[in-house]
Amino acid sequence: MAIQPDMKRYPLMNNYGYPALEVVRGQGMNLYTADGTSYLDFTAGIAVCSLGHAHEAVAHAISKQAMELVHCSNLYRNPLRDELAGHLLRLSGLDKVFYCNSGTEANEAALKLARRYAWQQGAKDRTKLVSLPGGFHGRTYGALSVTKKPAYHEGYMPLLQDCETPESLEVVVDAIDEQTAACIVEVIQGEGGVRPVPADVLRAIEERCREVGALLIVDEIQTGVGRTGTFFAYEQIGLKPDIVTMAKGLANGMPVGAVVASEAVAAAFTPGSHGTTFGGNPLAMAAALVVVETIANEAFLTHVREVGEYLKNRLSEVGTDVSGSGLMLGMTVPDAGKFVDDARARGVLLAGAGAQRVRFVPPLIATIDDIDEMLRRVFS
Ligand SMILES: *Cc1c(COP(=O)(O)O)cnc(C)c1O
Repeated sequence: MAIQPDMKRYPLMNNYGYPALEVVRGQGMNLYTADGTSYLDFTAGIAVCSLGHAHEAVAHAISKQAMELVHCSNLYRNPLRDELAGHLLRLSGLDKVFYCNSGTEANEAALKLARRYAWQQGAKDRTKLVSLPGGFHGRTYGALSVTKKPAYHEGYMPLLQDCETPESLEVVVDAIDEQTAACIVEVIQGEGGVRPVPADVLRAIEERCREVGALLIVDEIQTGVGRTGTFFAYEQIGLKPDIVTMAKGLANGMPVGAVVASEAVAAAFTPGSHGTTFGGNPLAMAAALVVVETIANEAFLTHVREVGEYLKNRLSEVGTDVSGSGLMLGMTVPDAGKFVDDARARGVLLAGAGAQRVRFVPPLIATIDDIDEMLRRVFS
């Protein structure tokens, strides 16, 4: 049921255009409009609701927490923050965490931490931030400055200084030098079309960072928390990042972001040097604990790998240029906008990732039956 555009009476700013659907409820793999029409959701709120919509344990954790403590400033310690940190640090092998509320904020903190680390080491001219062509890191000024997409920059200049995004993946290593504070990478470029960055490119970048003393930031905002079949996508390449950022799938829809870093790097954030009002709020922490305890589990991750493999094989039979891993897959189509519209008319929600790429990022609880149903609706 497409809503007819009536922009004059639509109260939201136009940066998303007019929405194609009005959604009032979700359950598991499905979203519903007010009239009860259901849609099989292969977007999961753009790789957010990994345990599906209205997940019972998440809902209970949030409502129980809401009756105890919704907000707790970062002036005070809170046990949920420590508990979630325990998981994230064990899973990443890193030492300290900073919480925030979104992906772009996590990257913003990571970039600031990297520059401040260099500054604290006395390397005052080590300010360069290197990023990859095709990468996406968010919309705030810092994150946007390491996201080289002209359409996203239009009208917002000037951006942050000393940011460099080489023209091709192969020459990124050449941009990393003694003036580089950090290089930020995605293992699979999500917004960039679900394009895996070749493992040898990532390893060469890591090696070059070590060589010149630059930090390696891995943006796991979309790939992390089990999306690609391992808790972090970088595990599949064997990278050892200095800083890792997370957000999207971490709390099944509660706004949250997290930055984890090694002890030495994290030490650059001294009291007062960075902050947030809402970061680490108990509602998000309570939801994230359920998510992480469910997903960081070999049986769960095996499910993601198996179902992902099945989806990848089936998509390869009907589509071209299928890429990605786990339940983060992309496919090339002539017109992504039209493909997404047609799928919606057939009761399936998909997201574009560029003009000619569609993205399949269903909740990680998707079963073989859900995938067959999606394929039946979209491709028959
Ligand atoms: C979505 C995304 C971001 C930005 O996250 P927001 O929560 O929208 O600010 C950053 N990096 C990657 C890889 C993303 O997919």
